[in-house]
Amino acid sequence: MSKIHLTKTVKRLAFWNAVVMFGLYFAFIVFTFTITNYIVTDNLDIRLKHEVEHILNSLVVTNDSTLVLNSKELNEPAFSSLGEESFFLQIYDLQGKVFYKSKNMDKLRGFLLGFPNNFNPYYFEDLLFNDMQMRIVYKRVFDDKFKHIGYIQLGAIKSGLNYLTKRILTFNLIILPLVVIIVIGLSIFLARKSYERLNNIIDLAKKISATNLNERLTFDADPNDEIGKLRDTLNTLFDRLEKQIDQISHFTDNASHQLMTPLTTLKTELDYLTKKERTVEEYRESIGIVKDQTERMIRIVKTMLILSRDCKDCSDEKSVFELTNIIENELTPVYKGKNVKFDFNSKVYLRGKSEYFSIVLQNLIDNALKYSDEKEVTVTVETGNEFVHITVSDKGVGIPDNEKDKIFERFYRGSFTQNQAKEGYGLGLSLVYSIVNSMGGKITIKDNVPEGTNFIITLPIVKLS
Ligand code: ADP
Repeated sequence: MSKIHLTKTVKRLAFWNAVVMFGLYFAFIVFTFTITNYIVTDNLDIRLKHEVEHILNSLVVTNDSTLVLNSKELNEPAFSSLGEESFFLQIYDLQGKVFYKSKNMDKLRGFLLGFPNNFNPYYFEDLLFNDMQMRIVYKRVFDDKFKHIGYIQLGAIKSGLNYLTKRILTFNLIILPLVVIIVIGLSIFLARKSYERLNNIIDLAKKISATNLNERLTFDADPNDEIGKLRDTLNTLFDRLEKQIDQISHFTDNASHQLMTPLTTLKTELDYLTKKERTVEEYRESIGIVKDQTERMIRIVKTMLILSRDCKDCSDEKSVFELTNIIENELTPVYKGKNVKFDFNSKVYLRGKSEYFSIVLQNLIDNALKYSDEKEVTVTVETGNEFVHITVSDKGVGIPDNEKDKIFERFYRGSFTQNQAKEGYGLGLSLVYSIVNSMGGKITIKDNVPEGTNFIITLPIVKLS
C-alpha cells in the first residue's frame, strides 16, 4: 500500500470531517441539555402542582374573606430552609399586597417580582436568581363561593437541573481534549482512507506512463461508481495514447523511409556524376532526376509541416491561383509516362495557396494509381457558375461503404490497404480534407462504375472582373 501524505486535499477533507464531527458533538450536547431540562422541569412542575394543591387545601377562608392557613402544613422545614428541597411561598390579595410569605422568603430578598397576567389554571415560569435556576408556579385563590380573592405563588430551586448541568459540563470539559484528539485523528484517518484508492490509481498510472503503455488499471471496482468510472476513463485514455504514440512512431518510420528513398537516389546520382567526366546529355539526365527527387522530398516535408501545424496556414484569403496552371505546369510533368489523363477546358480561379492545392491533387492521383495498380486515372474539371467540380477517378479496388467516412481521419488506413501491404501512412487524405476545407470547399466519394473510386472536390470559383 502506498504511503499517503497529508496533501492539501487530504487536509481539506480532514478539516471538513472535523467540522462536521465537532458540529455533531456540540449538537449532541445541546440535545442532552434540552432533554435534561425538559425532564427536570416536568418533574418539578408535578411537585409544584402537587404542593400548591396541598397548600390550597390547607387554606380556610373566613366569612369576612380573611385567609386562615393551617400552620402545621407551613411549618414544615421545606418552607423555612434554603435548600434543594425548599418551597418558597407567597400569597397575595387582589391588590398585589403580600399577606403571607413562608419563612425562607426572607433569605431570598427581592426574589418574587410582582405577578404575571396569566394564572389559569397554572402558570409556570423560569427565573434566574443569584445563579440559581428557579421554577415558579402561580395559581388563583378562590373562597368557598368561588369568588376570586387572591393569588398563590410557589417557587422551588431547579436543583436537579443545576446538578445535571454541572455534571454534564464537567464531564464534557474533562473529555473535551480526548474528543478533540479523537475527532482530529478520525478525520485524518477518514480523509486518508477516502483517498487511498485514488493514490493506488495514481501509483499505477505513474507506473504505466513510466514503463510501458500496454499496462492497464486492473483493480476490481463497479464500473458505475466513481472509482470504476475513473479506472475505465483512464484505461480508455491509455488506449488512445497508445494508439496515437504507435501511429506517430509509425508515421516517423514511414516519413523517414519516404525521405530515405529520394535521398538514396540523390546520392547514387551524385556519385555517378562525380566519379568521372560525363557527357552533357548524361549531366542533363542526372540533373533531371535530382530535381524530381528534390521535389518529392519537398512534398514530403511540406506534408509533415502542414500536419504538424494542423493546417493553420492552409487558407490564404488574399491569394488567388489558376487551376489549369497547376495541371499544366506541375502535374503534367510529374505524371508524365504514367496512366493519368487530365480533362479540362476553361481557366478557373480559386482562392488559396496553389502549392497546397497541388499537394491535394497529387495525393489523390497518387492514391488512385496506388490503389488501382496504376490503371487509368482521370482528372476531370467541370466548371459551373459558382463552383468547380474536380473529379479524380480510378478503376481500382474501391472503398467499402463503412470506411468512406473514416478514411479522412488521421492515420486511418483501409482494411484492404493493410492486407495488401500498400505503402503509406494514412495521412494523405486527412491533409487533403484539411486543405479543401480551409479553402471553403468539400470533398465527397462516389463509387466508380463498374469499379474503382471517384473523389469529387467542390470549390467556389473566384470571378475576376
Ligand atoms: P495511405 O494511402 O497512406 O494509407 P491516405 O490517407 O491517403 O493514406 O488514405 C487513407 C485510406 O483510404 C487508404 O489506406 C486506403 O484504404 C483508402 N484510399 C484512399 N484512396 C483510395 C483509392 N483511390 N482507392 C481505394 N482506397 C483508397
